[in-house]
Amino acid sequence: MEKKQFQAESKRLLEMMINSIYTQKEIFLRELISNSSDAIDKLYYRALTDEAINFEQDRYAIHITADKEARTLTLTDTGIGMTKDELETNLGTIAKSGSLGFKKTNEMKDGHDIIGQFGVGFYAAFMVADQVSVVSKSVDADSAYIWQSDGSDGYTIEEATKNVPGTEITLHIKENTEDESFDEFLDEHRLKSIVKKYSDFIRYPIKMDVTTY
Ligand code: ADP
Ligand code: MG
Repeated sequence: MEKKQFQAESKRLLEMMINSIYTQKEIFLRELISNSSDAIDKLYYRALTDEAINFEQDRYAIHITADKEARTLTLTDTGIGMTKDELETNLGTIAKSGSLGFKKTNEMKDGHDIIGQFGVGFYAAFMVADQVSVVSKSVDADSAYIWQSDGSDGYTIEEATKNVPGTEITLHIKENTEDESFDEFLDEHRLKSIVKKYSDFIRYPIKMDVTTY
């Protein structure tokens, strides 16, 4: 007998995930911070075996910048980055966890991050953003690439400019609707309290600056 794979409508799946797995919108920030932290960990582990990579503790941090006027929230890390192929496989496949194997190998999993384990973490960004762009430069590549998506209509990948390895994720925060407000995700105090709540387990400094007018 021939065994067939289920077909999944990715757009519907994404909607379902966004609206049901995640009950609190704020956890998108935890997911993105933990990805940045994983990316720095990966660089750290790489440096142990790769002489070409120097891991200087002070250079690793996660930056969060909010721009109220542009309605953007940007997370920048100095982690391992992604090649063009990695952007495609890691961000183009819903519910594929690329870090799961890595975390198991390195025994850094303590079981508190159940949703992250399903690998839908990154897509949580679409709970609060109507456009997400990811500029990344891998330590293994000379060129940087930008991945862009509105969360429902697929994604594009193009060459971009970025000199330092790492990843910069920019969320265009949704406009408020009659029954939902998203402004809180551009508010310094609110962002700080979310960061505080979820980043106990992050071993790298999280730095924040907010542009207000
Ligand atoms: P998970 O973290 O469980 O693997 P995610 O959906 O959160 O699942 O992320 C998917 C994959 O995308 C990660 O495994 C990683 O390979 C890649 N990724 C996401 N964010 C970053 C980042 N900031 N730097 C490098 N790679 C990243
Ligand atoms: Mg994750």
